[in-house]
Amino acid sequence: MNKFFEEKLKNKLKGTSKVPLVVLRKCTACGKITDRKDLIRILKNYKTSQIIINPNPNEFGRSTYICRNPECLKNAIKKKRLKNLTPENIEEINNLIN
Ligand SMILES: [Zn+2]
Repeated sequence: MNKFFEEKLKNKLKGTSKVPLVVLRKCTACGKITDRKDLIRILKNYKTSQIIINPNPNEFGRSTYICRNPECLKNAIKKKRLKNLTPENIEEINNLIN
């Protein structure tokens, strides 16, 4: 368990949480807004432009979120929302979905 979660859990137990426990993010394909942990995070590193699937929280870059749904992956690619993905990235996302 990382520090951030420890802190959140402590706040939850105290009942004085100022940090929202559910972080909502929007799927780039279907537009559904849902809990961040139910989505796959796709991050493009600012410096290297490398695409990282479900990066650790210390990675900085531009994030895109997508449902764990093969239809959303297909649509995101079709709509060119994920134009920087390599075939390896797509395979990695597919493995997370299935
Ligand atoms: Zn979706």
